[in-house]
Amino acid sequence: MKKIVLLGAPGCGKGTQSKFLVDRLNFFQLSTGDLLRDQTSNKNSKYGQQINLIMKKGDLVPDDLVINLIIEKIILLKNENIIFDGFPRNIKQAEVLDDSLENISMSLDFAILIDVDFKILEQRIENRIKETENHERRDDDNIETLLKRIEVYKTNTFPIIEYYKKKGILRNVDGMDTIDNVSQEILKIIN
Ligand code: ADP
Repeated sequence: MKKIVLLGAPGCGKGTQSKFLVDRLNFFQLSTGDLLRDQTSNKNSKYGQQINLIMKKGDLVPDDLVINLIIEKIILLKNENIIFDGFPRNIKQAEVLDDSLENISMSLDFAILIDVDFKILEQRIENRIKETENHERRDDDNIETLLKRIEVYKTNTFPIIEYYKKKGILRNVDGMDTIDNVSQEILKIIN
């Protein structure tokens, strides 16, 4: 069973490509963003409100919280093809992911980076916000938060690229290409 990390800045198309892999290759999409949003909408969650505030600002939710949520799922989904979307987001999380997989005698097959030009990305994000009705937007879908998320990505998540390169499992796809071409490139890597 394959275990793959999708890496890329906010707005690079990670969500779209994860969905493609789910539909096309029966992958299970494990998105920490979705797991955290489940917590914020669950009134019984001890940390829901705290998580909500952090996400609204575009900061990273504390490692302990995210790691607990994800480890539980990794064990449950041991025998599935998994696409990790939005996790890991820093080196600590990358190390924990490796350890957790090792504990169940598994390892990552690839870390696929959807590479984009940051200037064009900011433009894309501005357009996306202008085109989306207010009521359809996520709480963290505004210019200020998105620019903050890009900054958080550059500081925390970017170093992971080097981490996976050293392990020999990093693969790059050109995220400025069309959605279909990016999907095809990802398929070639996985198959
Ligand atoms: P996108 O896919 O648009 O980049 P996500 O849904 O993955 O956004 O993440 C939204 C927010 O959830 C992040 O800005 C962050 O606050 C929080 N978050 C998601 N994944 C993690 C993670 N692995 N570690 C810490 N915070 C996270």
